[in-house]
Amino acid sequence: MKLYFEGTSHGVPEKDRFCTCTVVEAGGKYYAIDAGGPLVDFLIRRGIHPDGLAAIFITHVHSDHVAGLAGTTDLFTWYFKNTDPHIFTPEQRLLDGLYAWNSMLYGERARHFRSTVFEEGEIFNDGTLRVRAIRTQHTPHSFSFLLEAEGKRVLFTGDLKRPEVDFPTVCFEEECDAIVGECAHFPATAYAPIFEKCKCKNFYLHHIYPRQQASIDELLAMEKPYTVTPLTDGYALEI
Ligand SMILES: [Zn+2]
Repeated sequence: MKLYFEGTSHGVPEKDRFCTCTVVEAGGKYYAIDAGGPLVDFLIRRGIHPDGLAAIFITHVHSDHVAGLAGTTDLFTWYFKNTDPHIFTPEQRLLDGLYAWNSMLYGERARHFRSTVFEEGEIFNDGTLRVRAIRTQHTPHSFSFLLEAEGKRVLFTGDLKRPEVDFPTVCFEEECDAIVGECAHFPATAYAPIFEKCKCKNFYLHHIYPRQQASIDELLAMEKPYTVTPLTDGYALEI
C-alpha cells in the first residue's frame, strides 16, 4: 500500500502546504482520504489518470477536508466523464452542497455521484481496500479511518478533540503498520502517552499547525520506543 500525502496543512493552507488530502494506492486502484485541496490536480501531478479513482472517504464535513470536491466534481462532470468514484461522507449535506454547486454550473446536466452516508463500523470493502470508520469527538459527525489493504493496516485519526479523549483505542489492541495523527488541535506532546500504548511503532504527524511546532520538536526530541515523522506535502509512504 502506498500513501501520497498531497495536503498536510491544518485548517488553512500554508505557503508550502495544501489543506488535507491523501491519495492511497493499493491493488492498482486509487482512493482519496479527504479532499481539502485540489484532488484532480494532485492525481494528474502524480501521473494518475482520474479514472483510476475508486472512492473518496471524507472524515468530516469541514472546509479544509472537503473544499477540493467542488473543483473535483466539476471536472468529473464536464471533462473526466468516465471517472466514477464512490463518495463516502458522514453527512448528507455535503452531497446536497455538491449537487447544488454542479447544478449552478450545469443545470440539469449536473451529475449524481455514487455516494454513501456512513455511520460507525465497516463502511467499505471492495476486496482490495477495507475501511472501518471510528467515531471521534471533533464534531458530532467526525471519524477516524482504519484502512486495510495488501496485508497492511493504517490508521488515520482525522481531526480529534484531544488524544486522551477520542484517539481510537483499537490501536491499543490491534497491530497497525502506521498511524497518521492530526497535529492541529492540541500540542503534539499530548500524543506521547497515547503512542506508548499503541502496538504500532510508526507515527506520522499530519494536519500540521505551525503554532504546534514547538511541541512537535519536543516530541521528536523525547526518548521514545517509537518513531515520529512530521509529514510534508508530496511525502510518499510505502508500507
Ligand atoms: Zn481539519
